[in-house]
Amino acid sequence: LTTKLPAVGTTIFTVMSSLAQESGAVNLGQGFPDFNCDPKLVADVTQAMTQGLNQYPPMAGVPVLRQAISDKLQLLYGGKYSADSEITVTAGATQAIITIILAVVHAGDEVIVLEPCYDSYVPNIELAGGVVVRVPLVPGSFRPDFDKISAAITPKTRAIIINSPHNPSATVWTKADMLRLEEILAPTEVLLISDEVYEHMVFDADKGCAHQSAILFSRLAARAFIVSSFGKTYHVTGWKVGYVAAPAALTAEFRKVHQFNVFTVNTPVQYALAAYMADAKPYLDLPAFYQRKRDLFRSGLAGSRFKLLPSEGTYFQCVDISAVSSLNEADFCKWLTTEIGVAAIPLSAFYGDGFDQRVVRFCFAKKDQTLEAALARLAKL
Ligand code: PMP
Ligand code: GLN
Repeated sequence: LTTKLPAVGTTIFTVMSSLAQESGAVNLGQGFPDFNCDPKLVADVTQAMTQGLNQYPPMAGVPVLRQAISDKLQLLYGGKYSADSEITVTAGATQAIITIILAVVHAGDEVIVLEPCYDSYVPNIELAGGVVVRVPLVPGSFRPDFDKISAAITPKTRAIIINSPHNPSATVWTKADMLRLEEILAPTEVLLISDEVYEHMVFDADKGCAHQSAILFSRLAARAFIVSSFGKTYHVTGWKVGYVAAPAALTAEFRKVHQFNVFTVNTPVQYALAAYMADAKPYLDLPAFYQRKRDLFRSGLAGSRFKLLPSEGTYFQCVDISAVSSLNEADFCKWLTTEIGVAAIPLSAFYGDGFDQRVVRFCFAKKDQTLEAALARLAKL
């Protein structure tokens, strides 16, 4: 059998979670909370199931959930997305992204990714027969390099994928960044795939930081697929429900693929999410909730030889390991897991060429006691 994805093995998240489990390590690798979601959300699912809401929902998602998403996008970003023709509920952001790519990328089309990038983007483009064009974020700061982005655009460029707040670097694009992107794309027909799964996790609002959704920039929104995930926002990564918001013409293409890709998504969970979204508080409270954990984790590492990089958003904290070890990132993460008892993710896993800059990623979406147990082991390094 000739493989379609020769460079692909098992994802680093699965590899590190398995190693953490075998070693009895505290798992700060794969990004997921180790605490439960709001019991009300579980009760809402149970209620929907008990009411008999257990058969196929409409292909694009249950209307009440699409309406709740539309209302949120209006409330937060002034977006005007028709629940009927511009919002589709997906099986997580992962399915949203592969479906967008399969829907719009023709064989030979170029798609720009900014490295380091989430590990599904590149194989998704390859499966669609597209050509991956890798543009590095600025080493060290992980800021976008707009001269390089601009230079990467050719007549064959079909789309660019951006991700802010950014996994793995925990950086957040500024308004100036988004305006610059808007200006660069203006003379082109390049589509924008904006992965905003961490939209509700931007810290330091007192210093003026805020999520800059592509929806806020009308000329970007007109060409954009906006992707988000309830897994991140409501502490239910295992539910695998997200959504895509895009102008009607783009949504129509998206749904052509979606209907044959999953057709539709878990009915009772959709009703529960719709009911839960009636209250904005859970997502409005999320930045403060995670900022406290970020600060707890950062202050616990302050006396160690790890060099803390900024964590402006997401639930990740990156650290430079060069003063702690001479191992490469991947070997360091294995050593840290098996010998020190804390799992982390090497940033090299987010680069096509395995670029190693001696930086690893920790996830702080954990109970305080979990973070404290990890810190007891890490602080002495
Ligand atoms: N994009 C990014 C940047 C992510 O970090 C994740 C979650 N790991 C996803 C997409 C996938 O989200 P989901 O779990 O909803 O499929
Ligand atoms: N997005 C999560 C992370 O970056 C993991 C998702 C996955 O396991 N595929 O850690």
